[in-house]
Amino acid sequence: MPRLLMMHRARKLPLVFQLATVLLLACSASLAQTSKPDGQDIAFTVSMSKPQTHLLEVEMRIRDVPGEAAILVMPVWTPGSYLVREFERHVQDFAAADQSGHPLEWEKINKDSWRVKTNGAREWRATYRVYANELSVRTNELNSDHAFWNNAALLMYPDGFIKAPSTLRIIPAANWKIATGLPPVSGEKNTFRAENFDILYDSPVECSNFKEIDFAVKGAPHRIVIDGEGNYDPARLRSVVQRIVEAEVAMMGEIPYHDYTFILHLRGGGGLEHLNSTALGFRRNGFSNDEGYRSFAALVAHEFFHLWNVKRIRPDALGPFDYTKENYTRSLWVAEGITEYYGQLMPCRAGLVSERLYLDQLAKRIQAFQETPGRLEMSAEEASFDSWIKLYRPDENSINSSISYYDKGEILGLLLDLDIRRRTHNARSLDDVMRYLYTEFYKKGRNYTPADFQKACELMAGASLDQFFARYVRGRDDLELVYNEMLGGAGLRLETSGAGGRAEAKAFLGADLSQNSDRLLVTSVRAGSPAYEQGLNANDQIVALDGARVTKETFEARLAERKPGDMVHVSVFRFDDLRIFDIRLSADSRDLFRMVPLAQVNDEQRRIYQSWLSEVQNR
Ligand SMILES: [Zn+2]
Repeated sequence: MPRLLMMHRARKLPLVFQLATVLLLACSASLAQTSKPDGQDIAFTVSMSKPQTHLLEVEMRIRDVPGEAAILVMPVWTPGSYLVREFERHVQDFAAADQSGHPLEWEKINKDSWRVKTNGAREWRATYRVYANELSVRTNELNSDHAFWNNAALLMYPDGFIKAPSTLRIIPAANWKIATGLPPVSGEKNTFRAENFDILYDSPVECSNFKEIDFAVKGAPHRIVIDGEGNYDPARLRSVVQRIVEAEVAMMGEIPYHDYTFILHLRGGGGLEHLNSTALGFRRNGFSNDEGYRSFAALVAHEFFHLWNVKRIRPDALGPFDYTKENYTRSLWVAEGITEYYGQLMPCRAGLVSERLYLDQLAKRIQAFQETPGRLEMSAEEASFDSWIKLYRPDENSINSSISYYDKGEILGLLLDLDIRRRTHNARSLDDVMRYLYTEFYKKGRNYTPADFQKACELMAGASLDQFFARYVRGRDDLELVYNEMLGGAGLRLETSGAGGRAEAKAFLGADLSQNSDRLLVTSVRAGSPAYEQGLNANDQIVALDGARVTKETFEARLAERKPGDMVHVSVFRFDDLRIFDIRLSADSRDLFRMVPLAQVNDEQRRIYQSWLSEVQNR
């Protein structure tokens, strides 16, 4: 969308137009909501004079925002993480003053809004501090070692002026360096410019003595900014990230940014996508083996792919954003799930993961999904819509009542990709769907609806896919029967039993356990299982199996020795009472899911397999 294009210089209107705009804005508050934002001057200064207190200091200078009063709003959430996090709860020491320093009256009018009586002052400022002591990709942390923050969790916007440009000046502690995706303002030290608040809020900041690794792809500069110590090999790290970038750029065909910044914290975990940057968390000693680099590659591939899928190819409700409440969309299975599909696939296409390993891990993820009872209770669209109250707020019943749109979305991406390839004799694929959405929606300034996404898939498949979408996207039908239909197109079959050569079924209880120091706890009980039907509850503390004390390890080992139909006696503390449950075990005939080649594979199946797993080429 044009409003999200990274513009590196402000488009300045001639002075006469600026004045006219200001006058017009001054005439009517409601007009101000819809008028062009040019004319206001919003300048933030963020400082950190006492890093050890975890308090980021914000000064917000506002000029030429008309009216007798102004409302400053703190976002309650940040895009990419679909939970109301109430960032306003960390605000303290709010104050406002006019140009000569006289205090202005203010009051809070709801949890996230401060109304300041500006008395028509042409220029005034608000100051406040924000407690920042939580390192995650979507929160803020300031301490004696570094500062990292998300602008949505730090900077307020004047109500009605979300499209206004602003500048951000940073006064770092202790000569720290600054990394952010925002373009610098030339001639002004440590000052950056945002064309509007969506861009400002989409540009996190790292401030520290970080290490930096640079590389270029198609002439565009990329940097990896690393905070903290870790056991990575810098050359290998750079190579992994660069190969992911090259593979994804090759697929999407062009680079829609001027420069890109990976902010990597070697603490915590996860990632959050932004317009021309991403924040990543990875364990500091996670680079000790190939598996560590592979999981890092998958994280990078996921977050980087988001720069197209969700940051530019946007579902209906995701941009422009309402920062004061939940923004509902039925398409997170596309925005997150299909991003996860490519996040797993791209390391394989880039040669960082073998085809065999990719297929083995894919089979494991399909198995985990098929063993989730909630898959029959919640559709991919429902999971997307209820993200705010479900995925981000899991409880012991989640496994029975819900699914993750990451998990099902990845699988739907796989099935759609293979289906399109199969129907078109490998002339088209899901890659074409993503490129089409980029060209036809992002470049034309449009967001897509669920119907648009389906139509794009149908256009590439050359056929109606309504049955597929009705049953597996909008509906909750079991995917069980559809895997082999689609995988067959690539000459593969998903084997769900008997692969390990085991003749007999395993005994099955159906309780998930965790060992918390010396307490063995039931964390969830799977619907329909013996544990569920015969009385075990989440939070029961298991103290004995068949009269003998157990840990998680010994419990599982002894259960594995039992046969389907056997009776076990499970002693638990429920609240403060000791209880014994006699539970008859059932049979679990499933073995490890495996992807195996079909006995007969023709040329077309071979071609589909090849281009699906190794298609890295410029189009
Ligand atoms: Zn994501």
